[in-house]
Amino acid sequence: MVVRNFTKTAFLKLLPLLLRSTQRILQAKPGSNTDGRVPILVYHKITDLRLGLDAQWNVPPAMFAEHIAYLRSEKFNVLSLTDFYATLSRKRKLPPKPVVITFDDGYASMYRHAYPALKAFGFPATVFIAVDYVEKRSLFWWDRRVLERLPEAYESLRMLSWSEILEMQSSGIISFGSHTMTHPHLGRLPVEKIEYELATSKAVLERRLGRTIEFFAYPGGIRHYGDLSRETKKMLIHCGYRLACTSVFGRNGFGQNAYELKRIGIERTDSLPVFKAKISGGCDWLEAAQTAFQRVFNNVY
Ligand SMILES: [Zn+2]
Repeated sequence: MVVRNFTKTAFLKLLPLLLRSTQRILQAKPGSNTDGRVPILVYHKITDLRLGLDAQWNVPPAMFAEHIAYLRSEKFNVLSLTDFYATLSRKRKLPPKPVVITFDDGYASMYRHAYPALKAFGFPATVFIAVDYVEKRSLFWWDRRVLERLPEAYESLRMLSWSEILEMQSSGIISFGSHTMTHPHLGRLPVEKIEYELATSKAVLERRLGRTIEFFAYPGGIRHYGDLSRETKKMLIHCGYRLACTSVFGRNGFGQNAYELKRIGIERTDSLPVFKAKISGGCDWLEAAQTAFQRVFNNVY
């Protein structure tokens, strides 16, 4: 156990270093996204907070601003998920240098620190909502732990309110998808519970937003951890979803299964050189590293 924890800590510490050297080794040129593979970015909280089990996913607001300023200055085509789906189903041609921006869970820090910048640039993005948490204004258990230690962190931990969600929807650039009701390991549930998570979250979002909800992101998003399965895909189709995002690292080429889209998880250590490498293919090897890591270490959530 001690050895295992040591190895895990060493792996996580070494990762940013590996990423930076990979970018140098592979000479991943900024904006070289011309191979028809689409990176779908996934952010979580946008905050300077460094506490918590999921702190690696807390991207500082200044870093987020730097990322999207880079996309703008390098003339990336930021596609909405709807437009990306149209290219995937070959109804629309893929533009050069495509990228898609998504946020998981539905944290309010996204509204505060990402939405203004996205709006200023006219960059579309999709937020996947864990519906029960927004409905009940509750926090994830790992965020409640942080709150106990640091009550003033509430604003960084809380979920979006329906009024913030509606305001963003009315801007025309932010769209929403389902991230289930209760954020479970979906693939481990019995079929009737999978149906509840998928159908109810879709129905609540549609009632609240007055829009058809067709996009989904698996909580956790890793098959090896029981987040997706043959049953989850069947049920997604049955409930009327057209697309589902995983947390498998990578970019999406033509022919990628629409219910198993890969994404590029953005972490708080992703300074601009790492960000450039991640979106331009310089870090595609991470998919294999991620799979190996997940086979050795259990999920902590
Ligand atoms: Zn999530």
